[in-house]
Amino acid sequence: MTYPDTQLFIAGEWRDARDGRSIAVIDPATEEEIGRVAHAGIADLDAALDAAAAAFPGWAATGAFARYKLMRRAADLLRERADDIAAIMTAEQGKPVAQSKMEVMGGADTIDWFAEEARRTYGQVIPPRQNGVTQITLKQPVGPVAAFTPWNFPINQVVRKLSAALAAGCSIIVKAPEETPASPAALIRCFADAGLPAGVANLVYGDPAEISSYLIPHPIIRKISFTGSTPVGKQLAALAGAHMKKATMELGGHAPVLVFDDADVDQAVSLMATHKYRNAGQVCVSPTRFLVQDGVADQFIEGFTAAAQAVKVGAGTDPDTVMGPLANERRIPALQRMIDDAVAKGGKLATGGKRVGNHGWFFEPTVLTDVPVEAEIMNEEPFGPVAVINRFDTTDAAMAEANRLPYGLASYAFTRSAETAHRLEQEMRAGMLTINHLGLALPEVPFGGIGDSGIGTEGGSEAIEAYLDTRFVSRLD
Ligand code: NAD
Repeated sequence: MTYPDTQLFIAGEWRDARDGRSIAVIDPATEEEIGRVAHAGIADLDAALDAAAAAFPGWAATGAFARYKLMRRAADLLRERADDIAAIMTAEQGKPVAQSKMEVMGGADTIDWFAEEARRTYGQVIPPRQNGVTQITLKQPVGPVAAFTPWNFPINQVVRKLSAALAAGCSIIVKAPEETPASPAALIRCFADAGLPAGVANLVYGDPAEISSYLIPHPIIRKISFTGSTPVGKQLAALAGAHMKKATMELGGHAPVLVFDDADVDQAVSLMATHKYRNAGQVCVSPTRFLVQDGVADQFIEGFTAAAQAVKVGAGTDPDTVMGPLANERRIPALQRMIDDAVAKGGKLATGGKRVGNHGWFFEPTVLTDVPVEAEIMNEEPFGPVAVINRFDTTDAAMAEANRLPYGLASYAFTRSAETAHRLEQEMRAGMLTINHLGLALPEVPFGGIGDSGIGTEGGSEAIEAYLDTRFVSRLD
């Protein structure tokens, strides 16, 4: 595999930045520069805005069935190219190749889902109060979209926004991650090769703050979608609000995992340890605060710690690797600080806790236990391979701790009691809850948070609504 340099995609053409600037792309397993990505300036953003504005009416007027056919072709191209794209993703992001390939194939399924949804953007006929009156609602694409996506799932984060926008009939400018630029570019290429008209999808990279502060207020842009941290999401949502733009925010989480005395503990350990260390914990729905009932806590901690110690850490290109490096060097001191703080405040380090070696951004799968709630890691998203396992006695105590934080993205529970499961369904303050199995993030189910974890959903039948305006017409014949 030769890692490609990445250009901007504007008005149907792959081009360098007008002023020739570019950014280095680093392989997180080797710390070597493997390529460059074009750094857009304001002139490039203006070109992308003009292209998105010019292409919007034509794409909006293209029938939903034609959009569906084109998107299905793009999905098939993505599947055909999955091996090559997975190798590119692993080189730039670090995750094991098998996980990269799963992400690419899952991306194709997401395109299929939204393509089909395009054909179901039904309006309504509302019974009138007066004879001769017809009342209807129309669903129409909101307009050009600006989408900002992070580096943890280079394809998955783009494909949810891109597919929903295109299905709805919107044009889009994607600001994809500078750290992992080539795999999202390969995704966009599938759409271009499937026949997407020039200007409908545009792709830029550069200085995230410069790009968002230019695009969000711009009158051409009608809708914002951002995935990233809660502090940045709040800034961007405020900017969107100041300019009255629709916004979807998919932000940070701090997922609680409740394991009750009556749970299948072995199953909980095995599912959650795999899930925790997937993508080195750099996942917004990563399980983080494990709350385990007293009767099974020692068994769970012992099993989970052994599972963490068995995780093979290494380069994503090695087929035996289970967990690759962190995608960014800056996550190493951030994690180290949180772990040291937890231990200083009385938490116990059961395993891991530091960087692996000094070459490549590898970090040990880490387990902390009995960490006081004052510790930073009990309040801020670690976004890394760190599990915190604490104990609880009563369901009331577990619920209080699970709902303590302003975040509310994913949550997990293991119990054989229907009564407990029912209570969790009603009382867990989280956008998503999965009980006794892993059931999150399929294209056809909602994906989103409440509270500080964001606004809106990026999956399920509601997701396309965020890209549509509802208009009402009342007519007297
Ligand atoms: P960060 O907050 O600097 O950046 C997070 C993402 O937002 C990046 O993709 C970045 O390019 C983008 N970003 C930052 N400032 C921006 C701005 N002004 N306008 C537009 N985009 C902007 O943090 P980081 O070090 O890259 O990542 C670590 C933190 O980010 C984690 O703690 C986690 O909470 C969050 N994060 C969340 C997700 C997710 O899936 N929800 C993904 C990646 C990162």
